[in-house]
Amino acid sequence: MKAIYLKEAGNIQVADINQPESKADQILIRVKSVGICGSDISAYLGTSPLVTYPRIIGHEIAGEVVEVPAGEELLAVGDRVVLEPYVYCGKCYPCRNKRTNCCENLNVRGVHIDGGMAEYVYHPRHLVHKVPAGIPWNHLAMAEPLTISMHAVNRSRLQQGEYAVITGCGPIGLLAAQYALTIGVKPIMVDPVDERLAMARKAGVEYTINPVKEDAVEVIKEITGGTMAEVVIEASGNAAAIRSSIDYVAYSGRISLVGYPKNEVALPTALFTKKELDIVGARNSFQAFAQSIRLIAENKVDVAAVITKTISFEEIPAIVHDISVNPGNYMKVIAELE
Ligand SMILES: [Zn+2]
Ligand SMILES: [Zn+2]
Repeated sequence: MKAIYLKEAGNIQVADINQPESKADQILIRVKSVGICGSDISAYLGTSPLVTYPRIIGHEIAGEVVEVPAGEELLAVGDRVVLEPYVYCGKCYPCRNKRTNCCENLNVRGVHIDGGMAEYVYHPRHLVHKVPAGIPWNHLAMAEPLTISMHAVNRSRLQQGEYAVITGCGPIGLLAAQYALTIGVKPIMVDPVDERLAMARKAGVEYTINPVKEDAVEVIKEITGGTMAEVVIEASGNAAAIRSSIDYVAYSGRISLVGYPKNEVALPTALFTKKELDIVGARNSFQAFAQSIRLIAENKVDVAAVITKTISFEEIPAIVHDISVNPGNYMKVIAELE
């Protein structure tokens, strides 16, 4: 079968490889669409500490069921499905504690184990989610990134009527803003790129701030009537944005960190105490796929607003390279397979 194969960092190609072996309780899926994520770019650049090589990348995967294990009752051949790519052990402390997304022995498809940029993939039954007919394939590949955004928002315990500042208007930030809108929250998007802020406004975000051109603290103060934001979702991983989140948040507020910084970031911890902040990390997602699929199916979240373009499978290597050189030109790129 065809697969996007990273022989090592910097060496990406369409390769012809053997189809994966079947295992008990696994579903064989013919991949129909797969998203290109920042972590795929890190795998290509060799900057991800988690990826091992050689590796088939891709973890934002939708496809069609080709084969089910004997006795399977809920899934049938031909069903359209989305894959939850975080294969957890079920035995470690976080797993026992219903935090399988931070399993100590986590195997994420496309990162620790081979991913979805291939014609076929086997995946554990309990991590395969059936989706209704009629949703375009490129939209279905957005189900996984939407769960990441939902998890970041859920970790912050954001509630209707509160203000949420979202720093970083990439796919995760923009999907977090759309998810916040569905729960009755007015997001305030902060990003230094005007084009991205324009995309946020197009997706229904009323408040946008370019922190290079405006005093973001003053603008947030004005919007929130002096309180500042009850919640900040940090979705950029940028050191200055992470530092600023402490200024954007209200006293007794919450900060959810989903952006992954490249280096250690120094922070004034005295302000954590002074403001009595709840600061949480958000990694992968937990039990969010059913709702994510529903939000997409019912058009409550406009995933198309995040898709820069949809390409063919063969175009993936060239696009991955181009994104690595010109990341500012892209939000989300989805590859569709025939
Ligand atoms: Zn991703
Ligand atoms: Zn575990």
